[in-house]
Amino acid sequence: MAFDIGMIKKLYSEMPAKISAARKVLGRPLTLAEKILYAHLSSEQGLEAFERGKNYVNFAPDRVAMQDATAQMALLQFMQAGRPKVAVPSTVHCDHLIQAKTGAKEDLETALKVNKEVYDFLASVSDKYGIGFWKPGAGIIHQVVLENYAFPGGMMIGTDSHTPNAGGLGMIAIGVGGADACDVMAGLPWELKWPKLIGIKLTGKMSGWTSAKDIILWVAGQLTVKGGTGAIVEYFGDGADGLSATGKGTICNMGAEIGATCSLFTYDDKMAAYLKSTTREDVAELANGIREHLRPDPEVYEAPEKYYDQVLELNLNELEPYVNGPFTPDLATPISKMKEAVEKNGWPEKLEVALIGSCTNSSYEDISRSASIVKDAVGKGLKTNSEFTITPGSELVRFTIERDGFINDFESVGGVVLANACGPCIGQWARHIDDPNRKNTIITSFNRNFAKRNDGLASTHAFVASPEVVTAMAIAGTIAFNPITDTLKNSTGEDVILSEPKGYELPPKGFAVDDPGFQAPAEDGSQVQVAVDPISSRLQLLEPFAEWEGTDLKSLKLLIKAKGKCTTDHISMAGPWLKYRGHLDNISNNLLIGAINYFNNQTDSVKNQLTGEYGSVPATQRVYKAADIGTIVVGDENYGEGSSREHAAMEPRHLGVRAILVKSFARIHETNLKKQGMLALTFAEKDDYEKILEDDTIDILGLKGFAPGIPLHVMVHHSNGESETIEVNHTYNEQQIEWFKAGAALNIIRKKFNAPAQESAAL
Ligand code: SF4
Repeated sequence: MAFDIGMIKKLYSEMPAKISAARKVLGRPLTLAEKILYAHLSSEQGLEAFERGKNYVNFAPDRVAMQDATAQMALLQFMQAGRPKVAVPSTVHCDHLIQAKTGAKEDLETALKVNKEVYDFLASVSDKYGIGFWKPGAGIIHQVVLENYAFPGGMMIGTDSHTPNAGGLGMIAIGVGGADACDVMAGLPWELKWPKLIGIKLTGKMSGWTSAKDIILWVAGQLTVKGGTGAIVEYFGDGADGLSATGKGTICNMGAEIGATCSLFTYDDKMAAYLKSTTREDVAELANGIREHLRPDPEVYEAPEKYYDQVLELNLNELEPYVNGPFTPDLATPISKMKEAVEKNGWPEKLEVALIGSCTNSSYEDISRSASIVKDAVGKGLKTNSEFTITPGSELVRFTIERDGFINDFESVGGVVLANACGPCIGQWARHIDDPNRKNTIITSFNRNFAKRNDGLASTHAFVASPEVVTAMAIAGTIAFNPITDTLKNSTGEDVILSEPKGYELPPKGFAVDDPGFQAPAEDGSQVQVAVDPISSRLQLLEPFAEWEGTDLKSLKLLIKAKGKCTTDHISMAGPWLKYRGHLDNISNNLLIGAINYFNNQTDSVKNQLTGEYGSVPATQRVYKAADIGTIVVGDENYGEGSSREHAAMEPRHLGVRAILVKSFARIHETNLKKQGMLALTFAEKDDYEKILEDDTIDILGLKGFAPGIPLHVMVHHSNGESETIEVNHTYNEQQIEWFKAGAALNIIRKKFNAPAQESAAL
């Protein structure tokens, strides 16, 4: 199930008819994004003209990709579904847990020891359920996906925000939470708000020091970090067709920095060439066969403003390199203005560390162009003046660039090659710095540069640029350097200028690799044992949640009445808790510790109604759980906004909270609660929020007649003996009411497969 050419054949054979039907329904030509979306509607979805930014629509994605940090809970949940195998081709990639310290070999060895139990779990669960497993050191999820799995016209979800990287090969690829990945692997449809569309027309051709990265740095400057929210960004025009597939991938990758749902390029010869070079001639041939369906209709190019909600145009002949940052990826400065900006803003000019590579920029093209700068510099009597690191995105790239001598070139100037993993990009970096409080500057060819992202230091000013510019600045030792115009003094005191970078889109001798680091799943996984140590603090097999008992929920104690903002981060905090993301009971010790208690304005301090004493939210809830007393959480507006985090819905369920009653929900969290078998209710009259008092006991009534569109009632018993009834609304449909009754959505699937509880699979 790791790669399925039959699935691509089927999709391509059905696509033309689906696209033509959608064209008829809309009564107009289609953009590429629309073609792919309509081709992936889930079967229970009727064909209609969906309103952009309004309708929630069910899709059937072709693939799932998961990185090791987020895969843990997604797969623990998937095990609950009781399926013998995943419903769609899926892969796991061990890239986020490797810390960069000394260099590739030692760092990988350390990670294998430190994360052994997580890797063993992921390897065995993948083996059992038909999931392709990419071992630690094999590469970064998005680069490995681009090299092996992305294909034009496909749809993929991935448990990582830079999943849209696969748009470089014309795929709609969207970053999601683990619960969504679990659903799709279990065979459930996946819901997305029908996106808005932004068109970006690229004309002309880049030259010299400019590269694909500069296009997205420019776009980020134009649209800002929020400008792409809820939208698919579609690139087109002769300038787009001139870019390498990996360059397109870089641009789509960083679409996450403008908040875009995903970004997308149209199928062209560059994509075909990349597919062929990565042993997928068959996919290229199939794509060539339906080429016109993998590009927008011609009328869209003639009048793009009629078909996109917003259109930007960029002439690549005029584009110059950009440096974005510090602290945000949308502060875009053209390199010709950088010196002035550094002085004006008082940014530390001395460059301490320059880092190239990552999932964003470690293609053969990126590396060969950067190596050409290093070689040119050495030939002219120059050396690096900053620390310099190189992170290959995959073993395929690393092996090939080593064979072709580029690693030697980097090492000849003191460059350190790090493991094929995320490392400094995600803060997995044991940086050596004399004074962590000293204001200092680094520059990367990665994507994100928010404060503390790379090294955990608030004092670090992190900039983002192309690998070529980062390499040139490593040699200059300053971020005020403009390689197009500035000279550097060499070892003999001469002023020299760096030559423009030169490289290859694809390796002239082809890609090569010895061991790519892939473990194919077992043909028959039924006998495979999933490796989870019962005393592990990081991993815990899940128990299925109990079915609804068939009665109204009576005598629930109020756990907390949360005041004001209560995001998924308030409900389930990140930071140090993330190491427990595969252990539901341990991570539940952060339940609602960030929420403000309405009655005392404090965080993590609620009244235990059994003792009258105040204690932390999770500890108090555990007392109720031990006494077999159900509880309710009351909240304010937009409860559960923020990143889709399944733990925020699973923790209250695990600890015995029965219902969440709020003024309003963030939609994704509301759905997550429903999937876990929780009652997610809203006050019919928002002012009734005021009626809930600290010592209240609450009944939820009307559950025997639980039906779509029919409100429920809540009887509130106050400690003074008085009671009052309030009306509460819900948005459950028939299917979701079944989830509630079964105890969770996955319980329904498990019944379908008639599977035993998963603990029998534990070691
Ligand atoms: S390299 Fe960075 S952006 Fe890419 S997957 Fe890893 S952490 Fe995310």
